[in-house]
Amino acid sequence: MSDNSLLQLRGVSRRYVVGGQQVHALRDIDLNIRSGEMIALVGASGSGKSTLMNILGCLDRPSAGVYRVDGRDTSKLDPDETAALRCAYFGFVFQRYHLLSQLTARDNVEIPAVYAGTSAAERYARATELLTRLGLGERLDHLPNELSGGQQQRVSIARALMNGGAVILADEPTGALDSATGEEMMKLLLELNAQGHTLIIATHDHRVASHAKRIIEMADGIIVSDRAFGHEAEQASSKPSIATIRSSPLTRYGEAARMAFLALRAHRLRTALTALGVIIGVFAVIMTVALGESAQYALKQSLRALSTKSFEIEPGREIGDPRAERVQTLTIQDVDALRGQYYVRSASPTQMTSSLLRYGSASGLATIWGVGESYFDAKSLAIVRGVAFSAEDERRQAQVAVIDENVERRFFGSENPLGKTIFIGNLPCVIIGVVGHLKGRLEQKSDNSLNVWAPFSVVSTRLTGRRNLKNIFLRLHADQSMATAESAMTQLLLERHRTKDFVIWNLDEARKTTENVVLLMSLVFAAIGAISLVVGGVGVMNIMLVSAAERAREIGIRIAVGARRSDIRDQFLTEAVAACLLGAAGGVTLSVAIGFIIAWLSPEQFEFVLSIRAIVVAVACAALTGVVAGYAPARSAAQLNPVEALARD
Ligand code: ADP
Ligand code: MG
Repeated sequence: MSDNSLLQLRGVSRRYVVGGQQVHALRDIDLNIRSGEMIALVGASGSGKSTLMNILGCLDRPSAGVYRVDGRDTSKLDPDETAALRCAYFGFVFQRYHLLSQLTARDNVEIPAVYAGTSAAERYARATELLTRLGLGERLDHLPNELSGGQQQRVSIARALMNGGAVILADEPTGALDSATGEEMMKLLLELNAQGHTLIIATHDHRVASHAKRIIEMADGIIVSDRAFGHEAEQASSKPSIATIRSSPLTRYGEAARMAFLALRAHRLRTALTALGVIIGVFAVIMTVALGESAQYALKQSLRALSTKSFEIEPGREIGDPRAERVQTLTIQDVDALRGQYYVRSASPTQMTSSLLRYGSASGLATIWGVGESYFDAKSLAIVRGVAFSAEDERRQAQVAVIDENVERRFFGSENPLGKTIFIGNLPCVIIGVVGHLKGRLEQKSDNSLNVWAPFSVVSTRLTGRRNLKNIFLRLHADQSMATAESAMTQLLLERHRTKDFVIWNLDEARKTTENVVLLMSLVFAAIGAISLVVGGVGVMNIMLVSAAERAREIGIRIAVGARRSDIRDQFLTEAVAACLLGAAGGVTLSVAIGFIIAWLSPEQFEFVLSIRAIVVAVACAALTGVVAGYAPARSAAQLNPVEALARD
């Protein structure tokens, strides 16, 4: 083994399988290249020059044989180490320049340094300096399509020098240029060689080759001649050092995010379409969750008014009996009989009427409830001020009343109503308590009704003059079975009435049913939201896959200038997530706007709960969608063969 060889090939072959047939692009190549050499690789088209260049630059691997760079066997390196080696040693100059079209000249030159982990300030300065040195000081911020061919090739040379470019691999660098510009380019490359850069030029142009100090001629994958001219002194050249410390993950993700941003900006329409699917998905999630939560909230509020182990007994043959009004057999005596049962904790009769309420000069029509003392407990009505009436009050027909907050506000304002006498019709009653609001949110805003509760005995004898009840509200002892109690009560009432003219409502079952409906409803809402996000995700995946295929050349270029596979993967993944987050931002904005419009259009009937939780969940889901949908495209982008990718248009 030659001790001072920078690049060393031993028995290197490269075979391709095309349609079941083996093509030998390189056969058993032995070659030593020393640091500082200037080599022209000549030969007819198809002789294997590009294949050899790609192997030299670690873009491709030999099918057989050993390739050593600075003594390191490249077959022993993992993909990341290979990328680091490529990054540190090689600079590619291609026939078709291979610049990234959405980036400015300076940004293009900076890319290798990004992958090498150079700081932003440092690489900006170096890119500016290199381009200025190559005569492009005025063109730093131009896009490739604003530059001439010669200028683009200078940009690509600057890019090759960015990380040091110890070895410059130029594959037909003058192939796309006119002869004058080509000549100029050769001068530039020769200057670089004089400065110590090892230079390998593949060309079929003999004028170009005539500048070389060593000419290697190839034919059919074999080296047919290898001639050196003049004495070649070992030139002093700076040894590249492979950066072992790459930049921190945070900086790397920052770079990936910047690249993603540039790519998204470059493909605005595609980004907008990608985001659109997610906008709709996020909007659907937020809206469905908000609607679900609003409905759930309303239902839960009305359910809170129901205690457990409770029944309601109403007159009528069946639920919704239209003649129930005329059934007058449900009476206070039934309540007394039920109260005597061992399983009953409390039973409250209810009568309802409406009457004019007067206090001082103010008056208003109110609903008057005649109820038992246990009613407040059974209905979970909270007394916020004062007390509820007692069994004693009911027994001696005390003219006392409990009012709700609407009555308090309407008649007393900020005055304390307790102890004041209010007139129900012509019946004076002393106010002893105030009931707080416990209504559902749906009703809350529109409910301005006035409610007054008085002892059943008072309402029945002094206001309605009726004995029959609107209903009986009944609560069992906690340890009693609902089913047993229900059949016992049915039995009891049948004996008393001799006919089935009553309906027993199991309120616990009603509650359970409602709770199940609420649960089902939220599941349905969640499913709708999830489906829309999945649809959005499929859209993102689709567009990212197309984009990965479409951008094969870009990926090839990035790998050629030193990107690791993980860099490519991160960039594509970041792009997908960024597109999704962009969509999420759009969806949230849309939801908030629509939420305001709904609230503005229907302030009374429906309070729209646009919860922060729904927004957070939707945005998190969108980001997750980005990761899931972006993963496969990002992987396939990262697995791309750079040589094939660069060959594509
Ligand atoms: P040159 O650069 O000298 O024109 P190449 O190295 O591009 O030659 O090609 C050498 C041989 O390998 C040619 O016969 C070509 O058809 C074949 N070849 C190159 N790349 C591939 C590939 N990706 N798949 C199949 N055959 C290939
Ligand atoms: Mg070629």
